[in-house]
Amino acid sequence: MYGKIKDHLQKELASIQDAGLYKNERIIVSPQTAKIKLESGAEVLNFCANNYLGLSNSPELVEAAKKSLDTHGYGMSSVRFICGTQDLHKTLEAKVSEFFGTEDTILYAACFDANGGVFEPLLTAEDAIISDSLNHASIIDGVRLCKAKRFRYQNADMTDLEIKLQEAQSQRFRIIVTDGVFSMDGNVAPLDKIVELAEKYDAMIMVDECHSAGVVGDTGRGVTELFDIRGKVDIITGTLGKAFGGAIGGFTTGRKEIIDILRQRSRPYLFSNSIPPMVASAGIKMFDMMAETSELQDKLHKNTDYFVGQMKEAGFDIKPTKSAICAIMLYDAKLSQDFASKLLEEGIYVIGFYYPVVAKGLARIRVQLSAAHEQAHLDKAIVAFTKVGKELGVLK
Ligand SMILES: *Cc1c(COP(=O)(O)O)cnc(C)c1O
Repeated sequence: MYGKIKDHLQKELASIQDAGLYKNERIIVSPQTAKIKLESGAEVLNFCANNYLGLSNSPELVEAAKKSLDTHGYGMSSVRFICGTQDLHKTLEAKVSEFFGTEDTILYAACFDANGGVFEPLLTAEDAIISDSLNHASIIDGVRLCKAKRFRYQNADMTDLEIKLQEAQSQRFRIIVTDGVFSMDGNVAPLDKIVELAEKYDAMIMVDECHSAGVVGDTGRGVTELFDIRGKVDIITGTLGKAFGGAIGGFTTGRKEIIDILRQRSRPYLFSNSIPPMVASAGIKMFDMMAETSELQDKLHKNTDYFVGQMKEAGFDIKPTKSAICAIMLYDAKLSQDFASKLLEEGIYVIGFYYPVVAKGLARIRVQLSAAHEQAHLDKAIVAFTKVGKELGVLK
């Protein structure tokens, strides 16, 4: 029975290999931190994790997780509404709301689920979703699961957004949906303008803060802090899997009635397991740490400014960024791969991205800065980039 599809899959895999698009996984044998150990024994500096605040191996979070194993056990074996809700889950939801200045919060197993389950319970064929062309795959999938009419505007292009809003005026409700930070360029959505257009054309706003929460804004409250529009965004989705400790877990936070309806009708919430108590417990600890100090944000912002400044000075072509993502433009796909391989030999772990992850002819290396990086780590990376840049003729 399996024979025919086996042949077919083998051909597919071969064509992925031939196109140079086969994804290999590099195996790490240490915790996730600035300096990691690979299975090969090599120790390298990690510049490609979403570990923006350096919390993935935080002693405080590890301790909070360990403690809760004794007090609350290992797993829930239930969805939230049957018997999967502990005090920890409710406390964590309250902490998320406090952090973002929102009315209520609902947890999911991941932000992929939060985005997958947000549209269908709220909107019908009478309504419109107006989505940025560079939004995350999980938003695209979530939109597909909903019958609302779809409009797509060019990345961060407010003229195009206005046109789409005008086209959507005959629909009952409208929602503008955008990533807060776009992961390939590191640019932020122009939320000040989006708020103006939303008011003019009677639309709600949803922002996915996965790459911006914890990172953007003086105290890391995300793009709503950056644009001073806390409370003006109807729906925020985010992850505990990036800056916030990097384990697992997602959330939707925003208007009370919206969160209430999601608890009643959102399928990834109703039909998927609760996050483990230790993840909730470490999450609570993490938000308590955020409430106390913005030291980690200060360090991350300092690291990012330093790295971007030095790389520009060295002569690299860097995309304008307002996040902890720094895209070093190389344009050529093969060059991006050769560059990343040579950097690994220099002890710097980064990834080169090319079509179809980014547009054709816009290959790049994406560097992700972290509060876990020390000055010496940044300097080592800058020296290595400069050396390889000269070897490969990127720098004169
Ligand atoms: C990472 C990411 C997600 C998915 O988050 P998970 O919690 O890992 O599922 C969703 N949206 C954006 C913009 C992301 O960057």
